Amino acid sequence: MPSHDIADAIRRGGPWTVERYMRACLTDRGGRYAEGNPIGAAGDFITAPEISQLFGETIAVWIAAAFEGLGRPAQLRLVELGPGRGTLMADALRLLRRVPEVGNALDVHLVERSLPLRREQAARVAWPRLAWHDDVADVPAGPAIVIGNEFLDCLPIAQAICDGAGWRERLVAWSGGRLVFATGDAVPGPADARIGAVREYCPSHAALLAALAARAAPFAALFVDYGHAGGYGDTLQAVSRHRHADPLATPGAADLSAHVDFAALARAAVAAGLVAHGPLPQGQLLLRLGIAARRDAHLRASPQPREAIDAAVARLVDPAQMGDLFKAMAITSPGQLTPLPF
Ligand code: SAH
Repeated sequence: MPSHDIADAIRRGGPWTVERYMRACLTDRGGRYAEGNPIGAAGDFITAPEISQLFGETIAVWIAAAFEGLGRPAQLRLVELGPGRGTLMADALRLLRRVPEVGNALDVHLVERSLPLRREQAARVAWPRLAWHDDVADVPAGPAIVIGNEFLDCLPIAQAICDGAGWRERLVAWSGGRLVFATGDAVPGPADARIGAVREYCPSHAALLAALAARAAPFAALFVDYGHAGGYGDTLQAVSRHRHADPLATPGAADLSAHVDFAALARAAVAAGLVAHGPLPQGQLLLRLGIAARRDAHLRASPQPREAIDAAVARLVDPAQMGDLFKAMAITSPGQLTPLPF
């Protein structure tokens, strides 16, 4: 829904939960992803695959190792959740196609709700067996490798806030001519919290893991995202044109996201009968998968100046830049080898 429609719907119909608000802002008709492309220099934010092709190429190394780990199946679904502009997949496939045993086995499945982004993906990803889906549950049965970079952070979260007497669902309401946070029904929560403390839940993460488990085929998934290992407060954030913004000011126009709680994600994986590995800082993931060797190969072949390539690698792996805040977690079906490099 366009900005004024969301505000209008709340003004007329009463408060929404944070979860409903976030979903409407992002993927409903008129939401940020449904209507445009927020990714890249001209958009709201920039992501690792857009910083350097070395990111997608290094993820290709992970995919090739996961192919081995799954016992080199003759046919394998390579699934990307929320592929954005298609850059990661294009960079990974450029490398994977050089390894015929892997390349011949792969059919590529892009799970993407945004029509403008599907068009961008179609322009970049060239593969003979390529399909799009709205939902991971629609990917055909069979062994799979699943990749999601900055996908989990844009699935809608619910929030609860402690009001002293207990926990209440956090709402978005209309008051004084604008959208404000408000509190709703009582919800269960720990007794020892201070007033104003916020807790977050992501029911969509559990639903995603349940859908992966329900495929009943061996799989290995790699999620890379900014987040923490549990215990944080309010992480709902809005980004517009590379600046932080008020999440309630321009619903549907800014990009909303929340930090991923990897401890909760691991618990949800176990609850779904799956196995979680990590989290591992993004810098560690990329270094252990050999991003330095890929950089050297790139330096020899590319017209780009050495400084630009080094700066991009530093941005991805340096703990003071993306290296620590971004983390990787692998989730596998039971009975798999621990995926490299966890
Ligand atoms: N992986 C890309 C893009 C990250 S942005 C990159 O790293 O650059 C998030 C992506 O997830 C976008 O492609 C967005 O359209 C998609 N997306 C968001 N919510 C989705 C949902 N519920 N189902 C499928 N795709 C979704």
